[in-house]
Amino acid sequence: MSQRILIVGAGLYGATCARELHDAGHRVHVIEQRDAPGGNCATRYLPEADCHEHVHGAHIFHTDSDRIWAWVNRFARFNAYVHRVKVCHADAIYSFPINLFTLYQVFGVRTPQQARDALARERQPIAAPANLEEHCLATVGPTLYRLFIEGYTRKQWGRHPSQLPAEIIKRIPVRLSFDDNYFNDRYQGIPIGGYAALFDRLLAGIPVEFDVDFLRDRDHWLARYDRVIYTGPIDAFFDRCHGALEYRSLRFERELLPLADFQGAAVVNYSDAAVPFTRIIEHRHFELPSAARTEAARHTLITREYPAHGGPGREPYYPVGTAVNLARYERYRALADALAPQVHFGGRLAEYRYLDMHQVIGAALAQVQRLLSPGRHGAVTIARAA
Ligand code: UDP
Repeated sequence: MSQRILIVGAGLYGATCARELHDAGHRVHVIEQRDAPGGNCATRYLPEADCHEHVHGAHIFHTDSDRIWAWVNRFARFNAYVHRVKVCHADAIYSFPINLFTLYQVFGVRTPQQARDALARERQPIAAPANLEEHCLATVGPTLYRLFIEGYTRKQWGRHPSQLPAEIIKRIPVRLSFDDNYFNDRYQGIPIGGYAALFDRLLAGIPVEFDVDFLRDRDHWLARYDRVIYTGPIDAFFDRCHGALEYRSLRFERELLPLADFQGAAVVNYSDAAVPFTRIIEHRHFELPSAARTEAARHTLITREYPAHGGPGREPYYPVGTAVNLARYERYRALADALAPQVHFGGRLAEYRYLDMHQVIGAALAQVQRLLSPGRHGAVTIARAA
């Protein structure tokens, strides 16, 4: 039977659920507190620079999954962008993530074997690394750690790397070849027309209301729908009764420059502790150059990214996975579970997890599958519409 389903949040998790549940015949209604869909992957077209601005920071879609790549390609064509980041430290530019060219720049080594030997000399014998700093000292040693990791991580997280879990950095590869691709995944790219084009198609035919604050009228909304999928911060849903979950926030400083090209790459990281921002994004480089645009665009947009404390009035970006926060999250999770199956909590903010876009889609598809298959997964009740 077709059910009335409210989806709170038009980010990637909400939009994926909305698409699938709508296509399965349910009556889906999406509400969003911002004035546009897309969550933090939102882009908007900037005519002055003739490119799409990544409004909430760089978002590069990448996945190793055939299934997720095929699914997302139903809604967008992707360009052939490959993420290649440079790092600036003390005015020198380095290749990154750490690869043979980086090791050549830092240690003068020219072959994979020389690089392996250099790393073996650098590494510190730490048998069971207990934090991000020890993990780096044990895998790449102090020289590379100080050049690339220590200052950047301290700025990004507002804590010393010795107080952070190693998991944060494990997503970044270290290679002994000249491959400087940031990701190991088989597929990557940026939607042609920006993420706005992707969300237009994801949400096509589905009613979406903007500038709606669900929490202000929570009980009113809950009473009107058979099911609610909530993608906002889990602590806010429960009025932060167990205390606020900590998030790292970001402040963006935009500058439109009368130049065709400012830095020659989409992202340059600033790993020096003395520089207050972590990276500069130059938006036009996310799109592959077309001859027409190079002629037309006499301006380029750059954004400096400053990490900031989270808290009231600040956008929550990164969950801070310390033991205290994770324990607090578990208490909220217990409250959330007690609302199942009427209310489901999903996505980066509601699950308090640092998720890439492909992981968000994967989690949303799995959740919808559970909702559509009654009985197979315990307390599940939404039946596929006839
Ligand atoms: N990192 C670093 N130096 C860099 C880039 C990344 O130390 O130049 C560390 C930092 O701790 C960061 C983590 O690696 O939080 C993950 O980096 P990634 O680029 O994946 O972060 P995101 O783009 O999601 O912020």
